[in-house]
Amino acid sequence: MAEKPIFVMCYCTGECPGFRDLNLWQLMNRVRTEMDVEFDIVHPQLCVDDGERFWKYFARPGHRYVVGGCDPRMQRKMFKDALAEIGVDFDQNIVPLDLRNMSTEDAIDKVRQALATLNK
Ligand code: SF4
Repeated sequence: MAEKPIFVMCYCTGECPGFRDLNLWQLMNRVRTEMDVEFDIVHPQLCVDDGERFWKYFARPGHRYVVGGCDPRMQRKMFKDALAEIGVDFDQNIVPLDLRNMSTEDAIDKVRQALATLNK
């Protein structure tokens, strides 16, 4: 596992009230410039068909993904089967973070803490 974790942000179509206080591009830029990640990327809605296709195209066994979005249980339910099809175990390789209803600063801190724990 040579590569650093990748941060994936699911932005819930951009219409979700839960992300009303989140400055998306500030979050993405702070993560990619200040934190120990390979890179970061935004998807508009990972829990629908093209999100499933995204995971199957993009994810690789053994790599780690910190995923900002909704409730971790929801993420697990929505992503685990698509990931399992390509040999990626949700519980081993995905760190799901609920970033809803947070300020940009709080969301940045939550991602930073998750990455610090992962990179220990
Ligand atoms: S996975 Fe969660 S955050 Fe992403 S679009 Fe679906 S409900 Fe919204």
